[in-house]
Amino acid sequence: MPDSQLITKLRPPKKSVDPFRPYGWLHEQEPGPDGRLVDVNTLFLTNKECSFKCVMCDLWKDTLDEPTPDGAIPEQVRFGLDQLPDAEMIKLYNNGNFFDKKAIPPGGHEKIARLLDGYSTVLVENHPKLCNQSVTDFQKQICGQLEVAMGLESIHPDVLPRLNKQITKTDFRKASEFLISNGIQTRAFILLNPPFLTDPRKNIEWCLKAVEFAFDCGIGTCSIIPTRPGNGIMDQLLEDEDFVPPTLGALEEVFDRALQIGQGRVFADTWDLEKFSDCPYCIEARKNRLHNMNLQQMVLQPVKCSCKRSPLEGR
Ligand code: SF4
Ligand SMILES: [Zn+2]
Repeated sequence: MPDSQLITKLRPPKKSVDPFRPYGWLHEQEPGPDGRLVDVNTLFLTNKECSFKCVMCDLWKDTLDEPTPDGAIPEQVRFGLDQLPDAEMIKLYNNGNFFDKKAIPPGGHEKIARLLDGYSTVLVENHPKLCNQSVTDFQKQICGQLEVAMGLESIHPDVLPRLNKQITKTDFRKASEFLISNGIQTRAFILLNPPFLTDPRKNIEWCLKAVEFAFDCGIGTCSIIPTRPGNGIMDQLLEDEDFVPPTLGALEEVFDRALQIGQGRVFADTWDLEKFSDCPYCIEARKNRLHNMNLQQMVLQPVKCSCKRSPLEGR
């Protein structure tokens, strides 16, 4: 089982980032809990690398080695908002955990909260083990509704302990209950084809089981992420046949079936989807279909193409 030392040893170099600038921002739409489309701004905040070293994680690429300097995050939020139009919701993605004091110094929470006064929903990422009073304090500081996104990743009993995420299903359930009982909205990230599960059919079934588990914990939104190589250790696992990237067909099947559970919103991550398909004829249409399903939260007519034989064969 890869440990933090091996995971970091196999990494390619980090990118160069400025602690006083977000490393990215975007404006998009997503449906709210009532199905109405809302405008969403996302800031990708530059901050100290996450102290967890999950096997599949590549978020460390745009992070700092040292604790984030005081004042840097409010300045990044101020700068980032200046680049973006108005929106109802804001996502502060920090490649780690918003309530990790070394990543987002709590001395800046009040300033951040005031910069976000115009937003009705504020989403941040956080590890299930870091869901504590800092989260409820921040909910009180902001004017809008706080939503916390947590990685559940997988509930397969042989996979979750090997991801180096350092959580159990119980930790995830407890964190969800804590957030929900404090009036905080919740979202889960779930992997399709995590490492250490290489049977394509089992990957589809276990991804769906994780979505069902998350909804059973009361999670409001599940985001399905196709697992990608590219962080060093995942490329090694790919070579050793301990990891098989998902096909686009598998993502389509999981997304169709997860939407039909009907217990909450489900999103499929469509970033870099070309990597999961080798058919140049249908990729654009299939990407558009998934994008529209994200927006409409319903299963749309499948794209027909001669490359699609079954979800597992047809890439
Ligand atoms: S907790 Fe999240 S950010 Fe941290 S290593 Fe794991 S996946 Fe990456
Ligand atoms: Zn095709």
